[in-house]
Parts: sequence; structure tokens; C-alpha cells
Amino acid sequence: MSAEGSTPWQATVLSLFPEMFPGPLGHSIADKARKSGLWSLKSLDIRDFARDKHRSVDETPFGGGSGMVMRPNVVDAALASVDDMPGRRIYLSPRGARFDQAMARELAAEPGVVLLCGRYEGLDQRVIDARGLEEVSLGDFVLSGGEIPALALLDACIRLLPGVLGAAETLDEESFEEGLLEYPHYTQPREWNGVSVPEILLSGHHARIRSWRREQSEEITRQRRPDLWARYRGSEE
Ligand code: SAM
Repeated sequence: MSAEGSTPWQATVLSLFPEMFPGPLGHSIADKARKSGLWSLKSLDIRDFARDKHRSVDETPFGGGSGMVMRPNVVDAALASVDDMPGRRIYLSPRGARFDQAMARELAAEPGVVLLCGRYEGLDQRVIDARGLEEVSLGDFVLSGGEIPALALLDACIRLLPGVLGAAETLDEESFEEGLLEYPHYTQPREWNGVSVPEILLSGHHARIRSWRREQSEEITRQRRPDLWARYRGSEE
């Protein structure tokens, strides 16, 4: 686990577009955290591991069909070059286990992660099997490449690293931390667009505010996410 003053949490990314990194992670909280040494990033170009004169990384699929497939030997060589980097070997893929806050917490508690971003139709199955790659999906949709999922996964992990966010409470009350979606927020002005801030939030009564927020969280979760609500109710029994 990374903490201020100790080894940074190490993110390693293999991509055909390494210039997409750090991308949005070069701004705001993630950028500040990287500059303070809380996490580090190594992004490699898979194409650098191609051995033929055209530096080709893909080929047509055996058995026919549309699209191209990433060559196993090239991807394997790219992975071999980061054998010394810490963390699970994850291939971002729509076929993978769905990424969620629990997985972000697990990964953030490890020393780092190695992410492989696919392109075209994806990787030759043999390198997935030979390397025991763990497939992780961002959701039930198909993107053009694994770079956006990798950035999203990294962002979710980085903000969980100790010292990245200011107050620990910021995390405790967030959506999914207790299996519920978050309650609504309000700020100044007290009245806007003809609507006042709920009276309870102005009461200064912390226990009642906490219980109002809990009720709101439960109601929002019940209405919007029957799957989370059923799990939450199950965990309470
Ligand atoms: N032929 C693949 C399929 O039908 O499952 C889709 C390949 S997609 C066009 C190219 C790459 O984008 C994938 O190899 C993967 O790395 C990435 N990708 C696309 N959608 C993704 C998702 N929902 N989650 C994670 N990675 C995704």
C-alpha cells in the first residue's frame, strides 16, 4: 500500500497509444498526487515489441471474420518487459468481470497494477491464457480501445490511495462505500430558483442530519438501483 513518504503505488500501462497517458490523470487531484510521489506511471508502447520491419502488431483472424487481432508474441514480449512491475495483470476487455468500487479498493491496497489495453478485435486468446491475464470490463458496452477503461480504473484507484484526498470522511460517505448511493448535496445560496435547502441541513443537529442523509441514500438506492438495494437489504439481515 502506498502512503506519503513510502513507495508510490505503481501503475504500468501497455498500449498502442501510450501518449494517451496520463491524459486526464495529468490534471487536478491525480496530478497533484503523482507529483507528491503517491503514485507513479510507466506507459509503454506495445509497438516497440514488434520484431518485423513493418512493426506490425496485428493480423487477420484465423477462421475468417472481420477486423484484426493483436499478435500474441508481440503482446507477450511487451508483458515480459514489465515482469518486474508489481500488481495484477489486467487486460481491459468487455468480456471481463465488471469493474466496481470493491475492485478499486482491492487494487488500491496492492502495490500497483499492470494494465493491458486492447485495440482492434482484441488479443489472441493464447497470450491471455499463457499469461493468466485477468479480464476486467468497464461496463456492458464496446469502446474502440482499452485506454479509456484503463484511465477510469486508475482514477478510481488513485483517489483511494492514502493521502490523495484531503479528509478521510470524503471517502466514507461516497456512493457504494456502504452499498448505497450517495444522498443529495446542497450549498449556498439557501434559496435558489424558488427552492430552499432542506430545513434539517440548517438545524446544526448532526445526529439528525446523519439519519436524514441515510434515509435519503436508502430511498435513492431503492428507486434507482434495485440490484444494490437487494444486496444492501440482504447484508442487513
Ligand atoms: N471484439 C471485442 C468484443 O466484442 O468483445 C471488442 C474489441 S474492442 C473494439 C477493442 C478493445 O477495447 C478491447 O480489446 C478492450 O481492450 C477495449 N474495450 C472495449 N470495450 C471495453 C469495455 N467495456 N471494458 C474494457 N475494455 C474495453
